Amino acid sequence: MAQVAGNLQRIRNGQRRYAITPRIPGGFVQPAMLQKFIDVANTFKATLKITGGQRIMITNLKQEDVDKAWEMLGMAPAYTTSNRVRSVKICPGTTFCKRAKQDSVSLGMKLDKLYVSQEMPSKMKMGVSGCPNSCSESITKDIGVIGTVDGWQVYAGGSAGAHPRFADLIAEVATEKEVLELVDRMVTFYKENAHIERIGAFIDRIGLAAFKEAVLGDITPIDGANTSSASASISAAAANPNATEPLVNLPGMGANGTQGLNQGDPITENSIIREIIEVYPNTIPALQEIGMGCLGCPSATSEPLWQAASIHGFDVTELVSRLEKIRKGA
Ligand code: SF4
Repeated sequence: MAQVAGNLQRIRNGQRRYAITPRIPGGFVQPAMLQKFIDVANTFKATLKITGGQRIMITNLKQEDVDKAWEMLGMAPAYTTSNRVRSVKICPGTTFCKRAKQDSVSLGMKLDKLYVSQEMPSKMKMGVSGCPNSCSESITKDIGVIGTVDGWQVYAGGSAGAHPRFADLIAEVATEKEVLELVDRMVTFYKENAHIERIGAFIDRIGLAAFKEAVLGDITPIDGANTSSASASISAAAANPNATEPLVNLPGMGANGTQGLNQGDPITENSIIREIIEVYPNTIPALQEIGMGCLGCPSATSEPLWQAASIHGFDVTELVSRLEKIRKGA
């Protein structure tokens, strides 16, 4: 049978149905391209499915329609091979997101251009997030990057699916250039030395220390101590998924997640949101009222009140006064 430029989805009553998943770098799609997806779906009675990899799958295509669908999209047919770099999941970053610490779109697009479709010993997914919220799930990607106040944390070895594994923190570096250099070294070392295995299995086989030694070379992490403590924290969480400690202690947060606001203390513009809602839970509705629907989010709750007020476009003095009235039961 001739090779089909689509994925066989299922055979029902002897009829084969295929899916194609065109490349959409970063998940950013212009209206004109979106219209082409709609036209293909209407023409071939196909179904559109948003995937977890920020792409749009066109499924339920008959075999004879697969090449025509690619033609309507204006794209060359893509033949699928499993052992390659699949996609780079990119969060909106500083381009669009109020919480971003780094430009994940710029870095993610560069990684996409450099690596997507490259053959590898096994499949490889990448994720780039602009802040520790990690909306691109960087910690479960083969190569994951997370923006911080100081630079970028670079991870390797994550995976979800049948064999989930948290990625190992390889280093925290200051610049995008250093991230690209480190990723290049990790990918090259993996390609040249791995069997048919995901990068996480490769790291487990040779040991994290050996992997880091091979790829770090003259790259100087921002803070070696930080790197190892974050690694240790992740390993501990991986070993005990029921542990209550955060995966990585967020900047400005103590070991027990508090900074010292105690019952009876006044709320100020520098009070940390997490502490306010822990010590004075009756303030929660007031915080939610001004648009802080993010009270369950570790990154958001590690912010001081002044920063949260600024993000949500609220005057901090007025907010402090409102919370203080609640605290005093006025
Ligand atoms: S990871 Fe951070 S910067 Fe990226 S979308 Fe999520 S909150 Fe925004």
